[in-house]
Amino acid sequence: HFRGRATGLPLPFLRRPAPTVAPVDGVSFQIPRGGTLGLVGESGCGKSTTARAVLGLTPITRGRVTVDGQPVPRRRDAAWRHARRRMQMVYQDTLGALDPRLPVLAQLREPLDIHRIGDSRDRCDRALALLREVGLDGAVARRRPQELSGGQRQRVVLARALILDPAFLVCDEPVSALDVSVQAQVLNLLDDLRQTRGLTTLFISHDLKVVRQVSDRVAVMYLGRIVEQGPVDMVLHQPSHPYSRALVASVAGRRDAAGLASGRVRLAGDPPDPARRPQGCAFHPRCPLATGLCRTTPPPMRPAGAGRMVACHLVAETGSTAAVIPGDLD
Ligand code: SF4
Ligand code: MG
Repeated sequence: HFRGRATGLPLPFLRRPAPTVAPVDGVSFQIPRGGTLGLVGESGCGKSTTARAVLGLTPITRGRVTVDGQPVPRRRDAAWRHARRRMQMVYQDTLGALDPRLPVLAQLREPLDIHRIGDSRDRCDRALALLREVGLDGAVARRRPQELSGGQRQRVVLARALILDPAFLVCDEPVSALDVSVQAQVLNLLDDLRQTRGLTTLFISHDLKVVRQVSDRVAVMYLGRIVEQGPVDMVLHQPSHPYSRALVASVAGRRDAAGLASGRVRLAGDPPDPARRPQGCAFHPRCPLATGLCRTTPPPMRPAGAGRMVACHLVAETGSTAAVIPGDLD
C-alpha cells in the first residue's frame, strides 16, 4: 500500500545519475498482493517520482508507504536496506543499471554477497538458476552487459531484481527501449514471473497498450496527481476523466483494431510545467469542459462506480462524463 506525498531532491542511487524529479502530491493507491497496478501519464507527470517515493529513494514530506503492512523506512539506514530486499526496481535503462566492468554472474550474485546470503557456491547456483528462470543460458553468465542484446540485458536486470526474492516489484518503463517483438517476450516473461512468484507489481509506462496487457488496475497521472483509477479494461476502454479520455483517444487515433477509447477529448495547449501547477483543477487550461469552478477549486477524488475513482467536478457517481458532453468532442 502506498499513500504519500513526495517533493524535493532525489538521492543518488546505485550507479545511476539522479534523475530530475517531478513533484507529486496527494498520490494514493493500494495494490493487493499479487496484483499489478499500471501507472500512466505523459512524461514529467510524476510517474517515476512516485516509483522512487514508494521505494524510499525520494523524500516524502507527508503521508506514508507500507508494503505487507510494514512502513517503508524513509531514512537510508540498516532498516531501509533490509526493507529494500522485499522491494526491487526495474528500469528502462539497462546499461545504466548494470556495471559494464563485471560479468553477468558477478552482478547477479552481488546482492547475495552484500547481504551475506549463503556461501559462495550457493550464490553461484542461485544466480545460474535465476538466469535459467528468465530464459537465458549459462553462457550469458560470463559475458559483460555490453556484449548482450537489449532484451537479454533486460532479462539480466529482472534476474538481478529477483535474486533476493522480493515481494514487490516496481517496473519503470521496463520495455520502452526494446523493439516491439522483444517487448512482447519480456512482458510475457514478466507475466510468468509474477504468477509463479506471486509478485505484486507497480508497472509504469507511457504505453497504454503495454499497460493494458500486464495490469489489473490502472491509475492515470496528470501533473503530479492521480486523476482517475480503476479496473484496467474500464479505464482504458471507457475513460471517464477528460484527461484520461484525451490520453486514450490520442492512442486510438493511431490504432483502431484494439477498440480502445470511446468519447474523444482533444487536448488544447502544451503539457504544462510540473513546477507551476495551475490553480483549481490542474488540467483546466487544457480541458475543453472546464467551468468557473474548475479554475478555482481542485476536484476531490470520488468513487465513480464499479471500483473506479475520478477527480473531476463533472464526473457523476456513475463514472460517466457523457451526460455533460454533447456527442464526440474530437
Ligand atoms: Fe475538466 Fe473541470 Fe473536470 Fe478538471 S474538473 S477535468 S477542468 S471538467
Ligand atoms: Mg519516467
